[in-house]
Amino acid sequence: MSSSQQLTIALSKGRILDDTLPLLKAAGIEPQEDLNKSRKLIFDTSRDDVKLLIIRATDVPTYVQHGAADLGVAGKDVLMEHGGKGLYEPLDLEIARCKLMTAGPVDAPALSGRLRVATKFVNVARRYYAAQGQQVDVIKLYGSMELAPLVGLADRIIDVVDTGNTLRANGLEPQELIATISSRLVVNKASMKLKHGKVQELIERLGEAVVNSRKES
Ligand code: AMP
Repeated sequence: MSSSQQLTIALSKGRILDDTLPLLKAAGIEPQEDLNKSRKLIFDTSRDDVKLLIIRATDVPTYVQHGAADLGVAGKDVLMEHGGKGLYEPLDLEIARCKLMTAGPVDAPALSGRLRVATKFVNVARRYYAAQGQQVDVIKLYGSMELAPLVGLADRIIDVVDTGNTLRANGLEPQELIATISSRLVVNKASMKLKHGKVQELIERLGEAVVNSRKES
């Protein structure tokens, strides 16, 4: 855990960062420099006792689980894949909304035999098909999942979908909804106990910011 007087918050670049910064600002926390223009990974903020870490989205739960960050913001998709060990998830920030879905080729003929599913969400995929009693071969990919059915690597993919444009551009269509996704505030379990006052205050202020931005939209 970061030192007892400090709070460290792990964020990732992209839409989560863009949507989290206004909430942090409303909670009284602003980075001292433009995060998108810097290659630094650790940033001071307007509060002496709060630092921001900029890491890969899929690493956020790991940093928070191990206490390298006290708090973090991660998509529910990433949290489902991680499993959530060592984390509390006290607040839905209602940002970066999308859907975790299966997708496959438009008008594909019915499949016989074992389904091959390409995804970066291998744990989610195994759990999802196991719950349906369906045996599948899960193929781990790190990106551009949409390509897999086009070149015969897989029959289906599991990916996050927003507008569906990326799927459609590649001749795919969304099929089954696995989960609706938004970004969540996560907290290290030990930090929640040992830094309770500071952590609780931040959760409350962010919660108010979420309610206010809901009213504005
Ligand atoms: P789409 O609007 O469905 O074409 O989404 C474009 C791509 O952005 C998708 O392939 C997703 O991988 C990604 N994406 C969309 N929404 C999110 C989100 N909320 N978080 C992370 N990735 C997303």
